[in-house]
Amino acid sequence: MRELMKVTREKMTAAVLYGKRDVRIEQVPIPRVGPGEVLVRIKAALTCGTDLKVYRQGFHARMIVPPSVFGHELAGVVEEIGEGVESFTPGMRVVSANSGPCNECFYCERQLANLCENLQFINGAYAEFIKIPESIVRQNLLILPENVSFHEAALVEPLACVLRAVEKTEIEEGNTVVVIGMGPIGLMFVQVLKAQGSKVIALGNRSTQLAMAKTMGADYVVDSTRSNVVEQVRKITSGMRGADVVIEAVGSKETWQQAMGMVRRGGTINLFGGCPSGTHIPLDSTLIHYSEITIKANFHHTPRHIREALDAIHRGKFKAKSLITGEEHLAALGSVLERLLNRNGDLKIAIIP
Ligand SMILES: [Zn+2]
Ligand SMILES: [Zn+2]
Repeated sequence: MRELMKVTREKMTAAVLYGKRDVRIEQVPIPRVGPGEVLVRIKAALTCGTDLKVYRQGFHARMIVPPSVFGHELAGVVEEIGEGVESFTPGMRVVSANSGPCNECFYCERQLANLCENLQFINGAYAEFIKIPESIVRQNLLILPENVSFHEAALVEPLACVLRAVEKTEIEEGNTVVVIGMGPIGLMFVQVLKAQGSKVIALGNRSTQLAMAKTMGADYVVDSTRSNVVEQVRKITSGMRGADVVIEAVGSKETWQQAMGMVRRGGTINLFGGCPSGTHIPLDSTLIHYSEITIKANFHHTPRHIREALDAIHRGKFKAKSLITGEEHLAALGSVLERLLNRNGDLKIAIIP
């Protein structure tokens, strides 16, 4: 049986990033699996803001040096297993996270696997096959329940980041929470926050995004291209006090600063959106000190949150489908990325090899 499933070809079709806005569809060698590794036949890969950034700048300081295969949100079917793999067999439907922690370092020992010193990343979701390394097979490769499609499953990774951030922000029921930025991540925050009983004020700069925020349950939407956004948000909160919590999901100097202006005394800001490296932002020390503002930030996910994300999709607690606005063949990846860069109103596109 296992022999039947084995790939007999040498090459596969994959997207290779060569540099700034230069992605080519090529024939590359199919990765060979070693002990503990799994080869997955990709059924769906989702576009992501991080991939767009990488495509626009041509590299990623921590993750991608061109020429390289890329893409990191994926689901598929086990094609081949390496020696010693016991939990998976060929034919199983699976979702893989894009990294695996080492379980041995200072951070892993403290349940901070997202900050693991030896975090092993994978790239190459925009391809026919991907090799899942041993650390991910062991901790972050999950079998899909029958009712979860490949498209929905591929959303597990970004959703895990969002779930972890919401947990770490420590939001009380009934809190007013501002979410700045209505890209896919911001919209995920809106949906998760509504489900746990927050009052949500959504800020976005495009009408299509704001309409989406409404369908996800936002109580108020604010067009962030208008002047005095901070004041507009304060006006919505009772007594112009400011919001209990502000989550920033853009990653820019302006929006990080806006976040500080929107929070009430004693409130919490979560700076979730990563700014370009080297960005420095001035702090209003009076505001931070005398208003007792807590500033948090969150990066990445842990194996527990990957499981929670899949569970939320499986139980229908999170409506993953609403974030996937289209489907395209792998050959069209370049034009899809160009379209997304031009902000055509799409959220996530499922890329099918
Ligand atoms: Zn992503
Ligand atoms: Zn570690």
